[in-house]
Amino acid sequence: MSDPWRRCLNCGDTHQNFQKPTGDALDIVVARVGPADAGKYWRCGRQGCLRVQNYFAHRDGFDLPPSFG
Ligand SMILES: [Zn+2]
Repeated sequence: MSDPWRRCLNCGDTHQNFQKPTGDALDIVVARVGPADAGKYWRCGRQGCLRVQNYFAHRDGFDLPPSFG
């Protein structure tokens, strides 16, 4: 039901198909924002983009380490 298309500042402020982070990426999100808020942070699905951001506030986000690229 959720619309995964959000604006991504790393992708020139274009709309990208965001996905919920999984595995090691999810671990990093939890470490960064805490388990209570981790579910709000989605990852940009564009190839090579490392941005994770708040689903409800696209300016609130950060990059995953380069190893996730
Ligand atoms: Zn992006």
